[in-house]
Parts: sequence; C-alpha cells; structure tokens
Amino acid sequence: DTRHNVLLYLEGVNKTFDGFKAINDLNLYIREGELRCIIGPNGAGKTTMMDIITGKTRPDTGQVWLGSKINLLKMDEAEIANIGIGRKFQKPTVFECLSVWHNLELAMTGVRSVWGVFRATLNGEQQDEIQRVMALIGLQDHAQLMAGNLSHGQKQWLEIGMLLMQKPKLLLVDEPVAGMTHQEMDRTAELLNSLTGEHSVVVVEHDMDFVRSIASTVTVLHQGHVLAEGNMSDIQSNPKVKEVYLGE
Ligand code: ADP
Repeated sequence: DTRHNVLLYLEGVNKTFDGFKAINDLNLYIREGELRCIIGPNGAGKTTMMDIITGKTRPDTGQVWLGSKINLLKMDEAEIANIGIGRKFQKPTVFECLSVWHNLELAMTGVRSVWGVFRATLNGEQQDEIQRVMALIGLQDHAQLMAGNLSHGQKQWLEIGMLLMQKPKLLLVDEPVAGMTHQEMDRTAELLNSLTGEHSVVVVEHDMDFVRSIASTVTVLHQGHVLAEGNMSDIQSNPKVKEVYLGE
C-alpha cells in the first residue's frame, strides 16, 4: 500500500499557467520521518510543487493531504505553516543583528516585536530546547555571536534551526548547499540526515554530488510529472533520466 505511513501525499495534481502545464498529473508520497530528494531540470515544476504544498499556489485539480485527516487544499498559507509544514528558501533569512540564541528564541516564541526577545523570560524547558537545536546545527559555541557574522553555511543551518524551533512535521528545503564549501556540504548532509525519524524532509537540490551523499530516495521530476523514483544508483542507470539530463 503506497499510503502506508504516508505523511504527505499529492495525487493527480495539475497546474496550468497561461496554457502551460507546469504540473501534470503529479503523484507524490512522502513517508513519516523520511528524507526525500527532488531533482529535475530547470522548469520541471519543482518550485511549483513546493508552492502547492505550502499553499502559495492552488492546483487546478488533485488532492494534497497531510496525513489522512488534513486536507491542505482547504487551508491558506499561514494555516499550513502553523500545522507543521516549514519551508526554507534558498537564501537564508536570519536576523543579522541578533545573536544566534536570539534568532532561535524569536523563532520559538514568535515574539511580535524584535525588542520582545530582550525582555522575554524563557522557562528551563525552552532554554533546553534552544540548546538542543544549537548543538544539532553545530552552533553551540556561537550562542552570543551576531548572526550577521556567521559564514554562509552557518546562516543556512541557523535558518534550519529556526524552522525546527516550530517543531514542524515536514520540512521543505530549497537548494540548501548552493554556495557552500565541500566541508559545509558534508555537514549539511549530516544535519539533514539527523532530522529524519522525527521529521520528514523534502529537499530540492541541483548538486548531484550532494544528492548522492545524502543517500535518500530520489524523485526525478520532468515536465511536471514523476519521471523516476528510487535510490541514486537506480536513478543514474535509468535510461529515461539519462535522456532528460543529456542536454544539461
Ligand atoms: P523548477 O523549479 O523545476 O525550475 P518551476 O516550478 O519554477 O520549475 O516552473 C515550471 C514551469 O512553470 C516553468 O516553465 C515556469 O516558467 C512555469 N511557471 C512557474 N510559475 C509560473 C507563473 N506564476 N506564471 C507563469 N508560469 C509559471
């Protein structure tokens, strides 16, 4: 049964922009706690798919569910974020003038004013949670460092940490390693792997070395449809996939 332990599913999803079919009868099943890579050439529909999951774009037809009870097509973008779908865009958007600690605190408490973080008192459990996430993202020794002084890679991890503070069931991550050094890429692979089990993670990525290194199930999108799905060696030997990537 394809729906066994499925956290997110898209079935028969279609989306047309001005007569152009960006998403074409798309079926996608993401299981509880799995890490999934989505690859595909430019224009394959990866961004549109992410936009549909987060409610930014409405499909013309099809089903989008979180678990068996939550129909995401009945919710708006803010509601979808609140029920536990976090999205990280390619460019990190941390508060550069706040410390690592305060960035995480802000993400957790959702204080309306940035000034609120300097007055808020956290209980022990909240402080432990910030410590736990700081260790997970490898920034435990930089709690008081201004986020603006972090490296590009560290900013990306901090933003993942900020999403984790909201305890998402599903994390959508867009090209996390763009602009990273090899060492930072390895560290990011470790980080994303360490999130599985507790969270489901969907990563859209162009860097094939990185996709290979995280060793997850890979879904290849092409013309808005799933062209192939499987482990990286199956994908690489798939003739249909080779044909699509030949021109790249
Ligand atoms: P990918 O992220 O895989 O590169 P996209 O989802 O961005 O692919 O785009 C899929 C196709 O849909 C592209 O041909 C793109 O031009 C088109 N498209 C995406 N969004 C819009 C939009 N808002 N209006 C018109 N066309 C769009």
